[in-house]
Amino acid sequence: MGADGPRVGPIAVIGSNMVDLISYIHRMPGEGETVEAPDFRMGCGGKGANQAVAAARLGSEVVMVTRVGDDVFADTTLRNFADNGIDTEHVLRTRASSGVAPIFVDPESRNSILIIKGANALLTPQDVEAARPAVARCELIVLQLEIPLETVRAAMDLGRELGIPVLLNPAPASPDLDIAQLRSVDFLVPNESELELLTGMPVDDLEDVRRAAEVLLEAGVHDVIVTLGARGALWVHEGGQELIEAPRVQAVDTTGAGDAFIGCFATSWVRTRDIAAAIRAGTAYAADSVTRQGTQSSYARA
Ligand code: ADP
Repeated sequence: MGADGPRVGPIAVIGSNMVDLISYIHRMPGEGETVEAPDFRMGCGGKGANQAVAAARLGSEVVMVTRVGDDVFADTTLRNFADNGIDTEHVLRTRASSGVAPIFVDPESRNSILIIKGANALLTPQDVEAARPAVARCELIVLQLEIPLETVRAAMDLGRELGIPVLLNPAPASPDLDIAQLRSVDFLVPNESELELLTGMPVDDLEDVRRAAEVLLEAGVHDVIVTLGARGALWVHEGGQELIEAPRVQAVDTTGAGDAFIGCFATSWVRTRDIAAAIRAGTAYAADSVTRQGTQSSYARA
């Protein structure tokens, strides 16, 4: 899928893992009420884990730095990492609940989602420091915002100190992330709403996207890659901008599309060092993923 070839990396993913608990319901229960629901499914998720799995399936060696709890969800997550060939030496067990996301899907496919960060909220700057020898071997550090911001900052600082490029996916959008903190980010990969929140600028059309991305370049980011759903992605850098269109597909389920894009972009960039080619690979891989149901279950293998 656009990123095939010999095993590449390693890539360090320092971020979250969750177990999705998906209930298919006729309707939500009212207060004090118990209702039966027709179906239930469990799936591995969390932005960090999704990106790690996509990268690993495309041939990257992946070092995962994350925290799981001391429950059955931790076992599920560890097994999933192992099944995808991900290095789990820095997946730390914690006396806490694992990160879980109870999701309720109604007959019209509308989602209501709860996020319980659990052990993800306990990943510390010290955990990043403890992983230093493993991270030091990596060719790219991939970060998101489902772990504490101070831990994200510690990982950015470590990347700068070790001279390892840093990719930050500022998701979920956080009002606490200040653009002044983005100086050591090489690749910033937001979607449109994350770009809007990050810059406080309206993002209604491509010209708005470019203007907002340029503010991030001024803040010190090297390359801004804004994912645009079905339209693909806009790459904005010092030398100009390039719109890379996504292939037209019949979209069935777009959950986790951004994570698919990042996992593939990371793999392809580490392999080729060609940003435009990596964005093309990322848009094609993510577009393919939206043609299937589920998150990680929709990610193709190389
Ligand atoms: P997020 O999932 O983070 O909101 P986007 O919606 O921007 O991110 O999607 C990420 C990537 O997934 C896009 O750049 C595109 O390549 C692909 N994608 C998403 N939705 C579609 C779609 N309907 N058709 C084709 N590709 C899509």
